[in-house]
Amino acid sequence: MRQLLVVGNWKMNGSRASVAALLESLVSAPAMAGPEIAVCPTYVHLPQVLSLCAESAISVGAQDCSHMQSGAYTGEVAPAMLADLGCRWVILGHSERRQYHGESDALVAAKIAAAVEAGLQPIVCVGETREQREAGEAEHVVSAQLDGALRGQVNLDSLVVAYEPVWAIGTGLTATPRQAQDMHECIRGYLDGIEGVAAGATRLLYGGSVKADNAAELFAQPDIDGALVGGAALKAAEFIAIVGAAAA
Ligand code: PEP
Repeated sequence: MRQLLVVGNWKMNGSRASVAALLESLVSAPAMAGPEIAVCPTYVHLPQVLSLCAESAISVGAQDCSHMQSGAYTGEVAPAMLADLGCRWVILGHSERRQYHGESDALVAAKIAAAVEAGLQPIVCVGETREQREAGEAEHVVSAQLDGALRGQVNLDSLVVAYEPVWAIGTGLTATPRQAQDMHECIRGYLDGIEGVAAGATRLLYGGSVKADNAAELFAQPDIDGALVGGAALKAAEFIAIVGAAAA
């Protein structure tokens, strides 16, 4: 039985004041009991968020990390540093990293290896663009991303995969529950063929304009084990309602 997981990706948003206000609402919400919950703020807000979540059921992750543990990598943050702070998760291969920072599958693979070595649980994002879907290439694109990121890795017990169709991220367009389930089923089947991955136990999150009013239908699908939530994770009531849909 896979426990549902709801992760808030706060992206490059927030101030000390807004982070405190958001977490004050989240940690006291009764609906927060049920699924596993995590929030991923910017690096600079991590110490504050870790401290505010310390007595709660909310765990904390980063939105990216370096592929190296230390050294002359100006501007980078090592996975070992995140683990040392108390982070549990790290989002890797997000489409915004791939799009704006040119991250390749090979770099994502190196980051996964470094994150796992540091004891972090990687949330690995995959997903096709609208053009790729319209060309009938969605499954091929996603399986190639999984292959490039995961094949040859050791110790993927804690792996989480997030299917995030690029056309649905921040656009208000959501994959239908059927479209999402079909891809999740395909991802689980693909993971089954990768050595070292326990496909049946790996949680597969859906991401892309998840909101309070579409979460329940998505969570009802047999291969959808939670959500990676962007915009709606910045609104306490919306995020609490999504968590509530996972708890139902
Ligand atoms: C995301 O960026 O991971 C995401 C899913 O964003 P949104 O929910 O805003 O589409």
